[in-house]
Amino acid sequence: MTTTTAAPRRSGGLIDRRLVTRVAATRRYVALAVAVGLVATASVVAQAVLLATIVERSVLHHVSVATLVPELVGLAVAFLVRAACGWLGEAAAQRTSATVTSVLRRQMLHHALDLGPGWLAGERAGELSLAATRGTAALDTYFGRYLPQAILAALAPAGLLVWVAWEDWVSALILVGLVALVPVAMVFFGRESARRTREQWRRLSSLSARFLDLVRGLPTLRAFGRESHGRRQVEEATEGLRQTTMGTLRVAFLSALALEFLAGIGTGLVAMVLGLRLLEGGVSLFTALAVLLVSPEVFLPLRRAGSEFHASAEGQAAAERILGMLDEPVPVGGGGWSAAAAGAEAAAGPVVFEGVSVQYPGRAVPALDGFHFTLETGEHVALVGPSGAGKSTVLGLLLRFVVPSAGRLTVAGNELLAVDPATWRRRLTWVPQRPHLLTGTVADNLRLGDPSASDAQLLEVLEAVGLGAVIDALPRGLATPLGERGLNFSAGERQRLAIARAVLRDAPLVLLDEPVSHLDRTTEAALREALAPWLESRTVLVAAHRPELVGRIDRIVELPVAGGSGSTGTGTVGLPSPAAPVDAAGGAGGDPGAEPSLDAVRSVS
Ligand code: ATP
Repeated sequence: MTTTTAAPRRSGGLIDRRLVTRVAATRRYVALAVAVGLVATASVVAQAVLLATIVERSVLHHVSVATLVPELVGLAVAFLVRAACGWLGEAAAQRTSATVTSVLRRQMLHHALDLGPGWLAGERAGELSLAATRGTAALDTYFGRYLPQAILAALAPAGLLVWVAWEDWVSALILVGLVALVPVAMVFFGRESARRTREQWRRLSSLSARFLDLVRGLPTLRAFGRESHGRRQVEEATEGLRQTTMGTLRVAFLSALALEFLAGIGTGLVAMVLGLRLLEGGVSLFTALAVLLVSPEVFLPLRRAGSEFHASAEGQAAAERILGMLDEPVPVGGGGWSAAAAGAEAAAGPVVFEGVSVQYPGRAVPALDGFHFTLETGEHVALVGPSGAGKSTVLGLLLRFVVPSAGRLTVAGNELLAVDPATWRRRLTWVPQRPHLLTGTVADNLRLGDPSASDAQLLEVLEAVGLGAVIDALPRGLATPLGERGLNFSAGERQRLAIARAVLRDAPLVLLDEPVSHLDRTTEAALREALAPWLESRTVLVAAHRPELVGRIDRIVELPVAGGSGSTGTGTVGLPSPAAPVDAAGGAGGDPGAEPSLDAVRSVS
């Protein structure tokens, strides 16, 4: 499998460009929020000018209230405009949040499906689900609030300062001096906060993963009397998280304090200088009042951007993980198939493995090494070999869950990698080694095979796999909930449910991975009889130590132990006569004595 690991890249600035381009759909809402913010800023100036005019004319010129009606109406309008802007800004933030969460979750889900079960197997489930749930939700604040506020912080103070300079350059000079210090403080605290929040997110992810491990492994830990070990690990992770959270909060508080301090000093200085100049007559009451009212507003967008930066820091830390996952390259076969062949037909025909190798990441030896094998249409083939020989890997290749690192895999002469996976998988039905029951009812789980199957059909198939009595005994029958929050079936019952699901699928190529490993001989024999007519017309590949479920076996293909000497070879032999030992081609013979199931295969055949 040819994969390259995406190098972790971090955003150095206060705005992460990768994030912004990833969720381009939010741009118009962010633009709306910025536009609304600019209108609100203009309304602040209008309020200040109108209020200063009203005060000056009523205090100094003693004009009547009736004369001031236009200014009073204007002031009321300015207040209303500002309130409306606040409402619109909030609505834009909410829309952005909803868009971000759904876009990112969809992207993550699609990419995880493209990366396949092989990639998922190497991930920590708890950590990944934390990124997809809390992580994407935490990005709400980044897109909905921080991003518009950061843009506004670059535009609004500049506009306000130009207006202040127009009215009174001395005050503008004081404000510019202090405003210039704000980005310095923001960058300093921002970097520190980002570093600490990344650490906090890492610890939170580790805690989620450990907690999930503890819950899943509780029976094992309890059986071995090691619950305290699991508990200690979670306690340590919790304590680490508490400490980093406190550290992050300290930085956020210090940052807020620094910005408030600068804003307070700035406004105070402007007020003091204006007051002194007003006493000396160096400035008019109107100018002094208007500039004084606008001064705090110069700092407001910067202060808000600062606090939203800290509020969105968790989302930014989670983004590292989310973007890292989204940038993970989808594995491409190393077998040299050409992209030009993409779109090939998923036609019926022989499936041919030509020197196929599979190398899992982190594994020194290939799971499959130069495997040669042809599965003819209508053939029933048993894939046997010691544990770890690569039987499930062969099925994974056919399911397109695993990508070959070398060799060619063709179906009806077409490169399998060039066939659309969904079209190809419609030709398959599969019973996995460890069937998973999804959260849903018995019927929901069965209808994964055929969504249009009627209840009567479901009951018929359940009867055939020997689950009729089990379902009859359930008060809610087919509507019984299964999965995490429902009933838990035994391993054998799961296997039979998975077989029923596969039968309902009605596909021409049947892949069975250890389908009867949890069944007793009597149940297995009954199943074999029930499935025989269904299997007869299909191409069947069964990977099993005991492939007896499939009554008619035409050939046995034996895989040598993984990493053993020589290539996997074709390993194909004709069905041996009861007296003849099973042989493996390519000089990679298995040990028939270690494979008692082979005797059973012979007897079945
Ligand atoms: P069993 O009979 O025990 O089910 P198998 O013949 O089906 O074994 P595979 O499951 O195909 O064997 O595994 C072949 C080898 O590849 C094993 O050494 C296994 O540990 C390794 N392997 C399988 N899946 C992965 C994976 N996702 N990542 C890394 N190694 C893997």
